[in-house]
Amino acid sequence: MLSVNNLIKGFADASDGINLGLHEMAHALNLENMIKNDEFRFIETKIYFKLRDEYPIEAQKIKTGQNLLYRKYGAANFQEFFAVSVELFFEKPVDLKDYNPYLYSLIAKVLNLETLGSF
Ligand SMILES: [Zn+2]
Repeated sequence: MLSVNNLIKGFADASDGINLGLHEMAHALNLENMIKNDEFRFIETKIYFKLRDEYPIEAQKIKTGQNLLYRKYGAANFQEFFAVSVELFFEKPVDLKDYNPYLYSLIAKVLNLETLGSF
C-alpha cells in the first residue's frame, strides 16, 4: 500500500531525489528478479553482486556523513540502498555520477538504461 499524497508529492519535485513511486518500483524490480519463476534473474548476476559489494562501503559513508547525497534510510539495508539509488539515478543523475561514477554505472546497467548519455 502506498500513500497517494506521498506518491504525488514524489513526482511534484523531479529533482529532490525523493520519489516514492520510483522507490517502490525499485523494490518491486528487485523482488521480481529474486522470486523464482520463468523470468527471474533478469538482472545480470555479476552486476547485481558488484552493486551488493558497494552497499557496505556506501552504508558506512552514509552513517558517518561522508556520503551526503543519500538520505540516512539508504543505509538501512541493501534493499533500501538500491531503492534510494534508483531514486537518485532518476532525480539527481548528475550528482550521483559526480559522487560515484562506478555506482552510477552499476545502477544504469541494472536498469538497462541511461539518464545522462551512453554507458
Ligand atoms: Zn524502501
